[in-house]
Amino acid sequence: MADGPHGTAIGQSGHSCLTASRTGTGNNQAMAGEANGEIPGAAVTLRGVSRRWGSVTALDSASLHVPAGSFTVLLGPSGCGKTTCLRIVAGLETASSGRIEIAGRDVTNLPPAERGVSMVFQSYALFPHLSVAENIVFGLKARRVPEAERARRLDRAVEILGISRLLARRPSQLSGGQQQRVALGRAIVAEAPVCLMDEPLSNLDAQLRADMRREILSLQRRLGITMLYVTHDQTEAMGMADQVVLLREGRIEQDASPAEIYDQPATIFAAGFIGTPPMNLFPLQRTGAGLVIAGTNGPVLSTAPIEVATGGIRPEDFYRADTGIAARVDHAEYLGADTVLNCTVGADISLLARLPGRVAPAPGSIIHLATDKKSHLFDPRTGQRLAALADYMETHPS
Ligand code: ATP
Repeated sequence: MADGPHGTAIGQSGHSCLTASRTGTGNNQAMAGEANGEIPGAAVTLRGVSRRWGSVTALDSASLHVPAGSFTVLLGPSGCGKTTCLRIVAGLETASSGRIEIAGRDVTNLPPAERGVSMVFQSYALFPHLSVAENIVFGLKARRVPEAERARRLDRAVEILGISRLLARRPSQLSGGQQQRVALGRAIVAEAPVCLMDEPLSNLDAQLRADMRREILSLQRRLGITMLYVTHDQTEAMGMADQVVLLREGRIEQDASPAEIYDQPATIFAAGFIGTPPMNLFPLQRTGAGLVIAGTNGPVLSTAPIEVATGGIRPEDFYRADTGIAARVDHAEYLGADTVLNCTVGADISLLARLPGRVAPAPGSIIHLATDKKSHLFDPRTGQRLAALADYMETHPS
């Protein structure tokens, strides 16, 4: 997220965590759940939503459905429209066109406080002069929630987050992870059926990020709320999401489960964005026997009846064999559990192979790479997936 302008503006207005009263949401399910002490999620639907600023189209006719109680991640590179999409759902930004529904209700023109959403930002935007407890209930106080109710919600959030020892401290006396928990506390006390999070972990170090990922996920499962979560980190998306919405230049590139987006990327862009390292993508050309990597004599990777295609094989789908794709090793990167070999195939096609354990072929040596997995085929002109061609990966040179 663009931390500065968005985070600051919200912080200045005193609503760093957007809170919304249930009153008037018309969400009977939510009211019923409240009696059980749960926060049942509400579905969020976008229908052809666009946002334009002059010549910039931040969001281009986006349609998506976030099922109630799901964890949905908006993923994509910087500037693809993730934050804009989230802010439109929150009501902090207006759509140029299209319709937004929460719990089946048209909220397109409703103010944030009437939408039933809470929001956690990248910058936690805690008030430095307030204690942790005061920060957590600030939004409730602003909305004149009675004191006894504020205390009940605070107790519950404190118990869930395990921060009872921190309540009297000021934000400056907290670690990054603790500040993050306080920001989560503000979302919890809102007791809203939909929680929106914009890169909430990007200020944390790698270990803490991993810990907080687990905490946020278990929190969402435990509360039963609907989560719409923005990140540019595909590892985060794959590890947390029920549904990944991959955005590119304001358009939805693919909307699928993590497994589907990994196994069947819909486009070259999706194939290259998901995976560590990303999928190898290379030009294929036709020979008499079938499609081979351009500039090589084989092996045949597909017998699909097409002239040209972009082929894709994930680095982790390769293994070393006696025959297969002849690859010159340029260098090896040992990562502990596995090794990534950087290779060249043909004249100048780069291929990565991620092999288990420590392997250290001499730089310049020729190895053979094979795979039992499906290789992927894309149309190089449109970028679209042609087929999950499992026909075969011929491991014997033709
Ligand atoms: P990042 O991960 O870098 O935060 P993002 O995917 O969240 O990026 P957005 O912040 O939604 O992207 O921005 C999408 C596009 O809209 C960008 O090109 C951005 O410059 C543009 N944009 C966002 N807000 C405004 C604004 N208020 N006025 C003009 N253009 C804007």
